[in-house]
Amino acid sequence: MDPLDRLGRPLHDLRISVTDRCNFRCVYCMPKEVFGKDFQFLPRAEILTFEEIERLVRIFAALGVKKIRLTGGEPLVRRDLERLVERLALLGDLDLTLTTNGSLLAQKAEVLASAGLRRVTVSLDSLDDATFKRMNDADFPVAKVLAGIEAAHAAGLAPIKINMVTKRGVNESSILPMARHFKGTGMTLRFIEFMDVGSTNGWRLDDVVPAREIVAMIDSELPLEAVGPSYRGEVAARYRYRDGSGEIGVISSVTQPFCADCTRARLSADGSLYTCLFATAGTDLRAMLRGGATDDEITTAIANVWRVRTDRYSEIRSDQTAGLHKIEMSFIGG
Ligand code: SAM
Ligand code: SF4
Ligand code: SF4
Repeated sequence: MDPLDRLGRPLHDLRISVTDRCNFRCVYCMPKEVFGKDFQFLPRAEILTFEEIERLVRIFAALGVKKIRLTGGEPLVRRDLERLVERLALLGDLDLTLTTNGSLLAQKAEVLASAGLRRVTVSLDSLDDATFKRMNDADFPVAKVLAGIEAAHAAGLAPIKINMVTKRGVNESSILPMARHFKGTGMTLRFIEFMDVGSTNGWRLDDVVPAREIVAMIDSELPLEAVGPSYRGEVAARYRYRDGSGEIGVISSVTQPFCADCTRARLSADGSLYTCLFATAGTDLRAMLRGGATDDEITTAIANVWRVRTDRYSEIRSDQTAGLHKIEMSFIGG
């Protein structure tokens, strides 16, 4: 059967969390008070092996997935990640990419590129060490993340995207310096509205800096014009600098939701399938993998979940939904 007949609407993009662990404690993702030293991360045996991930990717690709993003937690803390990249790169024409906090990128960029990784997205919330620490709660100099970005550039992992989460009262003052820094570099800086993912980050609507405010702030110093989306389902609204020196993106999941075009699924580190970033429950594919299910049975299970999905969390967000017990971003993969 044609994959699209099985699915109804396209499933284009699969995000795979390769670990629920991270060496940062971002206030908007893994606040230290919750993810402290006593926090119980997944035991190794519960995490999908590279063989299991490869098998699932094969199945998802047959269902029409074109883009694979490795994420987490921090994907580069998963040992020998390049071995997984190598396996996935051999599967054919998949757009293989990775999102990282950049802390280990300087040492890993070259080996990942050689293994077949195509691009990277690096998260960076400020160029100022003190503000960076307030956002990311890591004793880590910004210069090292910048060195990681440089190494990714040198290794050809381009075009590079930079993700900046903005939180009211914490890093708004970093918006313009970040825009100035990345303008003209060929890298696209994307501003992400602080979202109520999970249930531990104390999210309040007042903490969100709306995307239109960010665009207006940049436009007042560095004139911008809107650009249309480059494909259906693109999450970032694009703007280019009027002087031709590049683009920025804004991901306005809170103030301008885009659920109708959502073509993304997520696979958690322990092998559950989630059809929405704000899900409260997933479908256990690991049990099928380890219980002897055939590829066809797993394909049918995925198609059955996807075909009936009705997720539109960002469109129905309210004070009540913000309090739901949602899966944490570090677990489900950003
Ligand atoms: N550790 C890697 C990193 O930080 O790039 C990959 C995983 S992280 C969960 C993926 C992306 O989600 C990052 O760009 C991060 O900034 C973003 N993110 C995490 N929590 C968020 C939140 N509450 N609101 C908006 N974006 C968030
Ligand atoms: Fe770690 Fe990324 Fe979450 Fe920050 S956003 S705590 S770097 S997983
Ligand atoms: Fe997709 Fe859920 Fe985000 Fe809406 S809220 S765009 S359905 S992941």
